[in-house]
Amino acid sequence: MIELKTPSEIEAMRPAGRFVADVLTALKEKAAVGVNLLELDELAHDMIRRAGATSCYIDYHPSFGASPFGKVLCTSVNDAVLHGLPHDYALEDGDLLSVDFAVSVNGWVADSALSVVVGTPREEDLEVIAATEEALVKGIEAAVVGNKIGDIAAAIGAVASEHGWGVNTDFGGHGVGRTMHGEPHIPNAGRAGRGLPLRPGLVIAIEPWFMLGTDRIYTDPDGWTLRSQDGSRGAHSEHTIAVTHDGPIVLTARD
Ligand code: MG
Repeated sequence: MIELKTPSEIEAMRPAGRFVADVLTALKEKAAVGVNLLELDELAHDMIRRAGATSCYIDYHPSFGASPFGKVLCTSVNDAVLHGLPHDYALEDGDLLSVDFAVSVNGWVADSALSVVVGTPREEDLEVIAATEEALVKGIEAAVVGNKIGDIAAAIGAVASEHGWGVNTDFGGHGVGRTMHGEPHIPNAGRAGRGLPLRPGLVIAIEPWFMLGTDRIYTDPDGWTLRSQDGSRGAHSEHTIAVTHDGPIVLTARD
């Protein structure tokens, strides 16, 4: 079922969005060569405790997960592209790190992700990060009343196509509200003009993630981390947005 939020409910979702943005900003500043993924998770966990927020991840145990997630942050490095389980690993020069973070504040969820390179970047890593950021902007621009879910999907997929990359549609955007994952699903490729009409009050996470080679993934033995099948690197950008009569509101916008 797709739930639409009232304007006052959308206002009530702003603190969660702002908090998620602040945590991602702090993580981006902290991420550097030599920093351990567990330190990044601990930083996010400390901020959650101080804010009185509730992690959406720590007890998360969907059908595709091996056990409850146990951490508050997804840290995906290099060929790990999504759902990276933080583990004892110190970031190395040139690593491509994606962080994905979702919490609930006052009962409302916000979900956002970003990718960075620590140390010396490879050109193609900057390209794939920039492409996911561009696709996110294009997807948000398509999230207007009168458009359909397919318009968002097509806008995202077009950016991947320009770069000659395939798109994996197993995981994509989703409805956000009292819980992290709701209807509708928003694939990162599709046909414009198809699917559910976008109505005022629809709150969704839009989250392009692209890989430099294959469009296929496999699950790491840790039961969570999803890796590209050919070892190519990937990037991920995500915002939680509200569709309104006045255009999309980016609830997780960073300063
Ligand atoms: Mg997310």
